[in-house]
Amino acid sequence: MTCNRCHGLMVLDYLTDLEDNTEDLWLPAWRCVACGQVMEQGIVHNRLAQEDHPDSLVERLQSKARKKHGPVRLGV
Ligand SMILES: [Zn+2]
Repeated sequence: MTCNRCHGLMVLDYLTDLEDNTEDLWLPAWRCVACGQVMEQGIVHNRLAQEDHPDSLVERLQSKARKKHGPVRLGV
C-alpha cells in the first residue's frame, strides 16, 4: 500500500469525524507517514471494485434473471 500523492508508506490508522461529535465513530483509514495523506478504507474498496468489475452489477442482474425465468428456448 503506497500513497497516491507521494508514494510513501501508508499505515492503517483510526480516525474520528471531528466535525460530527454526536457519536463516537472511528473510521479505519490509510494514512501516509510521509505527507499525511488520508484515504478512507471504504472509499478505496469502492473505487477498486468499480475498476476491477465495471459490469458486475449487470452480470449479477442477468444471472438472477436467468435463474428466475430458466433457460430461454428459441424455435423448439
Ligand atoms: Zn504521501
